[in-house]
Amino acid sequence: MDVVPIPQLADNYAYLLVDPATATAGVVDCADAGPVLAEVRRRGVRLVAVLATHHHFDHVGGNQDLVAALPGLQVFGSAAEASRIPGITRPVRDGDPVAVGELRGRVILIPAHTSGHIAYHFPTERVLFTGDTLFAGGCGRLFEGDAAQMMDSLGRLTALPDETRVYCGHEYTEKNLRFAAMLEPGNRRLREKREAVEALRREGKPTVPSTIGEEKATYPFLRIDSPELAASVRERVPRVRVEDPVAVFAALRGLKDNF
Ligand SMILES: [Zn+2]
Repeated sequence: MDVVPIPQLADNYAYLLVDPATATAGVVDCADAGPVLAEVRRRGVRLVAVLATHHHFDHVGGNQDLVAALPGLQVFGSAAEASRIPGITRPVRDGDPVAVGELRGRVILIPAHTSGHIAYHFPTERVLFTGDTLFAGGCGRLFEGDAAQMMDSLGRLTALPDETRVYCGHEYTEKNLRFAAMLEPGNRRLREKREAVEALRREGKPTVPSTIGEEKATYPFLRIDSPELAASVRERVPRVRVEDPVAVFAALRGLKDNF
C-alpha cells in the first residue's frame, strides 16, 4: 500500500491509499475534493472508495463533490453517524471489513471526539488511520464523549502492534510535542522526536506517519504512569487525584485545551 498525505484546508490531511496491484485507490477523509481528484489523476489510479472517520465538515466536506465527479463511488462511514456523513453508501460498525482493490482493512469503533468515530486498520500493511482520535502527540477534544471513553478508545488503538504506522487527521504534532515537553522535560525519546518533527516542519514536510510505539513513548495522555508526568500535572492541577488515571487524563485534557 502507498499512502499519500494530501494537505486540506489549514492543517487537515486527506490520505490517498493506493493498491499498486490493481491501480485502485481509496481516500481517508476529504474536506476538499479538488486536491484529491488532482492526485488521483496524477497517479493514474481509479478512486473506488471514501473512508470517513467521523462527521466533522473538515473530514467529509468534500464527499458530495467526489461522488458528483465519480458516480458509483463507495462512501464508507460510521453507521452511528450515517445521518451526518454526506454521500454515505456503506454504513459500517465495529469489526466490519473494508476493501480497496486487494487491500483489506477493518473498522475499529473509537468514540469520544464524536459519538461514532471510527478508525480504519489494515493489519497486513500495518497501517492505521485514526482521524481526530489519536494524533501524533495528542488526541482530539471530547466533543461527544468523556475522558473515560477516550481512554478506552485510545486503549483499543495502542493494543495494536508497536510498529503500526499511524496516519492522523491534522498536522498538530509540533504544538502537541511542545505541550508534552513542558510536562515531561526529562523524556529522552520525546526530546529526540521533537527535534525530528521541528526539522521536518522547517522543510514544510508532514510529520506523519507516527507509530503506535512512538506514541506510547512520547504522548502524555498515554504516559499517565510516568512519575515525572504525574508530578507535573499535580503541580498545575493541585486537587487532581493522581491515583485515578481517568482524573489525571481529564486534567491533562483541560490543560491541553487551554495550552
Ligand atoms: Zn473532528
